[in-house]
Amino acid sequence: MPQKIVCKSCKEVLYEGELLKSPQDVIKKFEGKCPKCKKDLKFSTEGVDVHPCTTK
Ligand SMILES: [Zn+2]
Repeated sequence: MPQKIVCKSCKEVLYEGELLKSPQDVIKKFEGKCPKCKKDLKFSTEGVDVHPCTTK
């Protein structure tokens, strides 16, 4: 199922795609900060929301 990982603060989409990625990998890719609002994502799932992309 396609997956979407968004910043909890500004709702910026950090990752969207068919592959299941761990939030940690995505956070690591952005060096622990949201590229948009610069919020510390804390290298955990606390700073992001993960949504299944169901309907389009
Ligand atoms: Zn953000």
